[in-house]
Amino acid sequence: MARYRGSVCRLCRREGTKLFLKGDRCFSEKCAIERRAYPPGVHGQGRVRFSDYGVQLREKQKVKRMYGLLEKQFRSTYHRAAAMKGRSGENLLMLLELRLDNVVYRLGYATSRAEARQLVKHGHFEIDGKKVKSPSIVVKPGMAITVREKSSKMERISGALETLESRSVPEWLEIDPKTQQGSVKQMPVREDVTLPIDEQLIVELYSR
Ligand code: SF4
Repeated sequence: MARYRGSVCRLCRREGTKLFLKGDRCFSEKCAIERRAYPPGVHGQGRVRFSDYGVQLREKQKVKRMYGLLEKQFRSTYHRAAAMKGRSGENLLMLLELRLDNVVYRLGYATSRAEARQLVKHGHFEIDGKKVKSPSIVVKPGMAITVREKSSKMERISGALETLESRSVPEWLEIDPKTQQGSVKQMPVREDVTLPIDEQLIVELYSR
């Protein structure tokens, strides 16, 4: 499947905010946003004024990049959210949060969503005891997300869990780092998404 192979820090600089795509580096002074907080490219330091469409587009790009989705995946997730009861924007964020790769990241098994996606694809996790390999699976409350026995000694996973204290596990999830047993307690709510996102702009963009 196609995927973005360029510098991910460039994406943060383009969106003008931290997208937390590089694990621990994002919390260090090496973060590109800390050192060069302006868009990449020769005109990066010039003044840019966005139209309404531009503002909506940038918000969509930001969220899409945060969760590591391609345009087609993001658009189909939006349409699914729009077909659900309730607010489309909030539904969209809930569907993104409930993706298996995001849950693996939020439980602390990985230091970034990209790493979580790779670990899932390589078959290191189980849902309710069954091996899974698809990062796009939408998890449900009550599901147990655990590391497969053969992968439980992997340094990447145990190392990420050791640094869990510096990142907080959201209320709707719970994990025991010692036994590597994670689960989904309840559905996430809008307040659980603490990232700076204005989802209404995305709804406006797709409603054009
Ligand atoms: Fe973004 Fe992380 Fe790179 Fe900083 S270090 S620019 S937050 S990906």
